[in-house]
Amino acid sequence: MSGNTLGVLGSDVKVGLPDGTKIAYANLDYAASAPCLREVADVVGELLPLYASVHRGAGALSQLCTEKYELARASVTAFLGCRVDDEVVFTRNTTDALNLLAHAVPPDTVVITFEGEHHANLLPWKEVVRLPAPSSPAAAVSAVTTALAGQTTERPILLAVTGASNVTGEVWPLADLAATAHRFGARIAVDAAQLAPHRRIDIAALDLDYVAFSGHKLYAPFGTGVLAGRADWLDRARPYLSGGGATAHVGDTPGEVDWAVGAARHEAGSPNVIGAVALAAACDALAAADLDTLRADEDALMNRLHDGLAGIPEVRILGAGDSWPDRLGIVSFTVDGVETRTVSTRLAAEFGIGVRDGLFCAHPFTRRLLDQAGATAPTAVRASIGVGTTTEHIDRLVTGIRTIAGSRV
Ligand code: PLP
Repeated sequence: MSGNTLGVLGSDVKVGLPDGTKIAYANLDYAASAPCLREVADVVGELLPLYASVHRGAGALSQLCTEKYELARASVTAFLGCRVDDEVVFTRNTTDALNLLAHAVPPDTVVITFEGEHHANLLPWKEVVRLPAPSSPAAAVSAVTTALAGQTTERPILLAVTGASNVTGEVWPLADLAATAHRFGARIAVDAAQLAPHRRIDIAALDLDYVAFSGHKLYAPFGTGVLAGRADWLDRARPYLSGGGATAHVGDTPGEVDWAVGAARHEAGSPNVIGAVALAAACDALAAADLDTLRADEDALMNRLHDGLAGIPEVRILGAGDSWPDRLGIVSFTVDGVETRTVSTRLAAEFGIGVRDGLFCAHPFTRRLLDQAGATAPTAVRASIGVGTTTEHIDRLVTGIRTIAGSRV
């Protein structure tokens, strides 16, 4: 990539080929987990000798880590452009964040979502209306308008949508969806697991109510995610986990407990300080990067990937195509006449390329897309890119797919 100064670990990893030679590993599976940014590794390396449990210790290292943990929260707050009264809760990942939100919504809330969601935004909700996956951004807004106009209930309504699909990379029209939700008195929660690493998300400017994302897709290590947004529902809900750290006072008799308000209410137990600091370091690095250059680089790579695959007659690319113009660097596809698992294992063994195959934890959506594409395979291959991807990686993938499609083993 050109222009941006970000770099990731692992770009020098080599893997063996059948002829005994070694080749630089081409990681094209960023949508699953992105490699760690150098900046993140540096910050983690500095903290490892110093870490101690936060909030409860008087010792110097505990004080230091408490400060770093709260500074990490401030970095995430700034990264997301939160309003002053928004809460930023550290979770384990996006799945955990959305389950926390599902736990915290008022008990009679009706949730409206789409078939195109990852399971993390499909399954946690108690009472849910699932709309068919739309064929364009305008169709998404129109479907939400119709669904909300048809609600006769006085109950709270939450629109829970993805920021960008993990199957097609299609970026959702969040500002329009938020405006529509609010026009009908509903709230909007965004699963930003895929969007956050690639586009600036400004909660206040987009007028979103909740945003969830994962550190391990944002170039930080595993184990930390975020739920950010309106404090009222979070402060009124019972703690997501009961235990130390979530309490203001515990009396002598069972059940006598005053729960904390604020983020601590939902962060019981010793928090993942290193994880939070690492995630915040990734937020800081991305916030300081030239996002326009980053996006231009990714768009160029994405177009190269897309055009290269589209030029292979046996390849069927999943998704709405040109009717959904704004896409991240994620392409899911099948190869006629070749089993999906064969495609991914041959890419790994013969070309040193890492991709994913399956239904991508979006089973109903991916099955629908396969059907629409006329694919005979029951699953797809997914290639996805980010910081550190090069044109050589893309060209190697296209050559690999061309070879595999031609050989029809
Ligand atoms: N939402 C989307 C769109 C995703 O792509 C993923 C992971 O692939 C998730 C949610 C779940 O993320 P995690 O496994 O980090 O909880």
